Amino acid sequence: MNDKTPPRIRRRASPPKMQGRMGYRNAEPYLRQDFDYRCAYCGAHEQLKGGPHAFCVDHFKPRSKRGPVNDYSNLYWVCIPCNMIKHDKWPTSKQRRRGYRFADPCREMDYGVHFLESDEGFLKPITACGEYHISMLRLNRAWLQQHRQERTRKWTRFTEASQLYEELKRIIEARPTNAATQMMRRLLTFLSEEIKALRSELAVAIPRIPMQRVL
Ligand SMILES: [Zn+2]
Repeated sequence: MNDKTPPRIRRRASPPKMQGRMGYRNAEPYLRQDFDYRCAYCGAHEQLKGGPHAFCVDHFKPRSKRGPVNDYSNLYWVCIPCNMIKHDKWPTSKQRRRGYRFADPCREMDYGVHFLESDEGFLKPITACGEYHISMLRLNRAWLQQHRQERTRKWTRFTEASQLYEELKRIIEARPTNAATQMMRRLLTFLSEEIKALRSELAVAIPRIPMQRVL
């Protein structure tokens, strides 16, 4: 296990108490908060998938592979597709010796350390762990790749629109009001609305890699 990088996801200090075969489901509201309402693996926000009902609790080490059932540190908030794809996959001891394992976002940095993102939105492994993680979770499935590509395009547009807004504002402020500056003010309002719309879309988009703070 790589403990050298800080974890991407930090859990609460006092986890909830759970008992019984399905006790782990009581952890849902706590996990949602700790995982920032996003899938631990693909980064999709609940709002992108239609709400929390499109998510579930995942056992990082599967129950069928002797993973603890009600241990909060083994519970992850994930989207249903990631949960179904991961299912009970777990590396064999031979694979683990060669470095093939799931990256654990609660114990290390996964994005930017074990894999990077290409301009086209594909995740590219840079370690054996990254290779295993991307392949087992199918993190380059079409929806994710297209979403990441589109999100990069929106970031570029957002950055350009924000710069243009600031420049235009400076120009208007340095001039006396006339027909031209009035037209520029209309353009400023238009840009402001565009920036606002992009900001709200990017706030729930899958974050860029290395994981950057969402807006
Ligand atoms: Zn997911």
